Formats: sequence, structure tokens, C-alpha cells
Amino acid sequence: MKAMNGEHADALVVGGGPVGALAALRLARQGRSVLLVEARARGAEVSDARALALSWHSRQLLAEAGAWPDGLSATAIDTVHVSQQGSCGRTRLDSADLGLPHLGAVVDYPALVAGLAGALERAGVRVLWQSRVLSVKSLSQYACAEVDTPDGRRLLTARLLALAEGGALADSLPGVRRLTHDYRQCAVLAEVETELPPAGVAYERFAHDGPLALLPHGDRYMLVWTRSRADAERLAAADDADLCAELQQAFGERQGRILSIGPRAGFPLALRQASRVVSGRVVLIGNAAQTMHPVAAQGLNLGLRDAVGLVDALDGAADPGDAAALRRYAGSRKLDSHAVVGFTHGLIKLFDGHRPWQNALRGIGMTALDVLPPLRRKFAGHLVFGVRG
Ligand SMILES: Cc1cc2nc3c(=O)[nH]c(=O)nc-3n(C[C@H](O)[C@H](O)[C@H](O)COP(=O)(O)OP(=O)(O)OC[C@H]3O[C@@H](n4cnc5c(N)ncnc54)[C@H](O)[C@@H]3O)c2cc1C
Repeated sequence: MKAMNGEHADALVVGGGPVGALAALRLARQGRSVLLVEARARGAEVSDARALALSWHSRQLLAEAGAWPDGLSATAIDTVHVSQQGSCGRTRLDSADLGLPHLGAVVDYPALVAGLAGALERAGVRVLWQSRVLSVKSLSQYACAEVDTPDGRRLLTARLLALAEGGALADSLPGVRRLTHDYRQCAVLAEVETELPPAGVAYERFAHDGPLALLPHGDRYMLVWTRSRADAERLAAADDADLCAELQQAFGERQGRILSIGPRAGFPLALRQASRVVSGRVVLIGNAAQTMHPVAAQGLNLGLRDAVGLVDALDGAADPGDAAALRRYAGSRKLDSHAVVGFTHGLIKLFDGHRPWQNALRGIGMTALDVLPPLRRKFAGHLVFGVRG
């Protein structure tokens, strides 16, 4: 191992996923010296099948940071249609409910992180690519990270250290516990071709065997189907025609016939929530603060608001690791985080049983939401902008 050599910045961001990258861009814009450490190699191909539904608000946050390039391939969502298999009752949320051009857009994870990498470069943010943080520690005047880089181990120090790497490093922080619930489920992703083109409609369907989303993805759909682990394994190996038939049965005919389905990818699902998002000079943002079930497509939307909330809370603070500023951050994010995590977990529980009375009650609830515009607008507003006090 080569000798450790150090480097100091105002703010050190660990993890160059969408949340860490947005935080780094905004910190730099605030006039802070920023160092971002990312395990991926610079320009490396990201093989991740996720297509993410981002709200209109998230899109604006990314665009403000120069991270929504004109060429970014995104498919607009104008309507979200929510229904359940085997009973009537449905809700439609429209962009017109909120007076917005679109409710959101679907973008591929690799395209998004590539867009953000370009924005980091244009903004002159220093990135240590292909470097993995091994451990972090908070001391009274600064926080430090031990990093494995292609040139050997390095010790980096900063007044503020933001963990945006998904949360594994948070386990060693004093006072932070990560509450974990394993859903024992997998999300099965595949591109689907339907007889009718998407026309801006995203579907959320609570099917008997697990909730499924169809997100408009160019002239096709991206399927995100939550299934038991055993089912997910079976679907991964299933014949295309059989899988199309199973999906058709669960989804119905709203898009006409399901014509074809592409290769499948699987993601195991768990809820992880940190008991605290601040430990000394270390803060948690994005998936490091909370990792959620994808059923409500809220994980990244919430994480981007963490990044913005953090930088806003530091406004005017000479020391970005100032305890009062970090308390402001933790306080400002509590309501949104708890509400969105609770709502997402609650949805899974709510649609768990399929007795006739359970279906009927849910059907009434969806219809009520559909026919009461003030309620529908409030609900849609929370989904798009988060929950504000
Ligand atoms: C199937 C599925 C579908 C989803 N759909 C949606 C959706 O439609 N809408 C939505 O809002 N959310 C969705 N999500 C959630 C969303 O993907 C996450 O919330 C989001 O990716 C979190 O971003 P992040 O930047 O916090 O973390 P990540 O995207 O996980 O990025 C973490 C980064 O940190 C790096 N890293 C990790 N460890 C280290 C280390 N030790 N040192 C240095 N770097 C490190 C990684 O290489 C990575 O680049 C979905 C999730 C799943 C699983």
C-alpha cells in the first residue's frame, strides 16, 4: 500500500449517484470547495436497468443545477392512472390538476448519472473517480474519510461530510441506527411493447400477485412488477409469450394487447431508514438516509429534496459542518421523509390482502380520491413537490 496523503475541502460528498452529484453541484454554487468521491470509474458504462419516474419538481431541481441536458432522453408523464385488479374504482391524476406542463418524466438511471457527470465537469467540481471510501469519522473540527484510490490509500478531511453512497458507511456512525425491513420481494423490470402507444400515461396497478407500474418509456413501457422472490426467479426465466400473457391478465386491456417483452432485471427490495441523519459533521442524504420500496416511485424524488434541503440549511453558515445548521437540515427534512416513507410502506400493507371487503374498501377510496378534486390536487401536490409543513 502506498503512503496516505491528504487533501482538505469545505465539503466532501461520498457517492456520485444522482443525490450526491446534485448536492455537490449546489454546494459548489454556494461557493464551497467540494470534493466528490465515487466508486465508479470516470465515464464507465453504468449497467442499471432502472427507469426512474421523476416528478416535475425533481426535474426542475436537476435543470437548475445544469443536470438536465437538452439531449437527455426523457418521456413525459401527463397522467397517472391508479387501479386494482379484480374490482372497480380507480384514480386519475393529471398535470392539469396542478396546472403543470407535465406531472414528471421517466429517465434511465445511466442517462441521468451521465448527465450529472457532465454537469459536475462543467461546474469544475473535483471528483475522485474509481475511489471507494472505506470508513468515515467525525471529529470536533472536521470529518475524515479513508479512501481507496487507484494511486493508493488517501485520508481526506472536510468541514462537512455528506454520505450519499446508499448508507452502508452510516452503520459505523455514533448514534445512527438503520432500521431495516426486508420485504422478501423483488422488483422485476422489463421493457414492454403494447398495442396502443403510451401517450403520456403512467399506470400503477395493484394486481393480486403484487403491484405493477407501467412507466412510459419512449414508444414503449417500462414494467416494474413487485413479486415474491420465487415468482421473480420464475418470471426471469419465463418464456416471453407466457410472461406477456401473465402481465395481460394482471394489467387488463387498457393499452390493448401486450405485444412483446424484453430481457428482465431483478432488484431485491428492503426498507432502510436511518434513526438520525446527522452525526457530528457527517450527514446522510438520499438512499443513505432512507431506501424505499419503489411502489410509489418516490425514492429519488425524496433524495433530491434531501440534497437541496441540506444546502439550503447551510446558507449563510461560515462553517458548513456547523451544528446549528445541520440541526436545521435534520429538522427541515423530518416531515417529508417520514411522510413519504410511511406512505410508501403503508401502500404495500394496504394492498396486501384481497378479500372482497378489502377490495371494495380500496375501490371506494380510489373513487373518492378521483371525484373530489381538492383532495386529488392535494394528493398529487404531495407526490410532485413532497410534504411541506
Ligand atoms: C427497481 C427500482 C425502481 C425505482 N424507481 C424509482 C422511481 O421511479 N422514482 C424514484 O424517485 N425512485 C425510484 N427508485 C429509487 C432510486 O433508484 C433511488 O432512490 C436513487 O437511486 C437513490 O440515489 P442516491 O444517489 O442516493 O444513491 P445511488 O443511486 O445508489 O448512488 C450511490 C452512488 O454511490 C457510489 N458508492 C457506493 N458506495 C461507495 C463508496 N463506499 N465510496 C464511493 N462511492 C460509493 C455508487 O457507485 C453510486 O454511484 C427505484 C429503485 C429501485 C430499486
